[in-house]
Amino acid sequence: MYRVIKEKEIFYKVSQLIEELNFSLPKEVEEALIEAKERETNKNAQIVLNILLQNAKIAREKRLPICQDCGMVVAFVEIGRRVHIEGDIEKIINEAVRDVYVNKFLRKSVVKDPLRRINTEDNTPAIIHCEIVDGDKLKIFVLIKGFGSENASVVKNLLPTISKEELMKEVVEHVRLFGPNACPPLIVGIGIGGTLEKAAYLAKKAILRPLKQKNKDSFWGEIEEELLSKINELGIGPGGLGGKTTALAVHIETFPVHIAGFTLAINLQCCAVRHGWVEI
Ligand code: SF4
Repeated sequence: MYRVIKEKEIFYKVSQLIEELNFSLPKEVEEALIEAKERETNKNAQIVLNILLQNAKIAREKRLPICQDCGMVVAFVEIGRRVHIEGDIEKIINEAVRDVYVNKFLRKSVVKDPLRRINTEDNTPAIIHCEIVDGDKLKIFVLIKGFGSENASVVKNLLPTISKEELMKEVVEHVRLFGPNACPPLIVGIGIGGTLEKAAYLAKKAILRPLKQKNKDSFWGEIEEELLSKINELGIGPGGLGGKTTALAVHIETFPVHIAGFTLAINLQCCAVRHGWVEI
């Protein structure tokens, strides 16, 4: 038995989500910023965290974008095996993006061609990843990604003989060099293993995990915690102006890898965290 999901319902729910994400910082992120403010002793850090919280409040109340960079929309779609979607899921998501960015006057930041750079005028296309899962539900995770932090991200191949300590050094050094330009406090998404594109996919997906949820594998969960402390010891702080809060979380996702390889992707998420999901 298949469950039929209508195009209209998906369009409506995804549009609502994209609109909400542009105007409203997720509650857990706001709470994390408040906690960080209480921990901070650095005056600059306190000022920046206050501004970020004030900015979130104004955006929510006045329905103004959280950031002037309204980002590129990334969608992770989980399609239940027993779901029949009436229509083309990619087309529906792009219609939703078009609808929100045009009608809510959000900044259109996508150009048709990387070299010729003509704006598409409606912020499409979105980046859409589809995955078939068990069940009869459709789940769509949306991340609105600003490019200050995307530009500060990387995918690389390391030596398969790398140790845990060397890996941690690699990540911390990356944040030291590129973190200040990525509008901290950050969420550091890390993808390890698989091929080059798989590692990049995992790093992006890692950003979506709830802030306080550690990797289920305690080995990686402990590395996440150690990395978070080391990154916060860098002293970059909110807005790069110093302090204890360079990152709010470090999330690692892993995948098996070839014996000759060690793929690593580090995707930095800025303080304008705009992600959420709908289930139909
Ligand atoms: S990196 Fe994030 S906070 Fe900074 S300008 Fe871009 S979207 Fe805004």
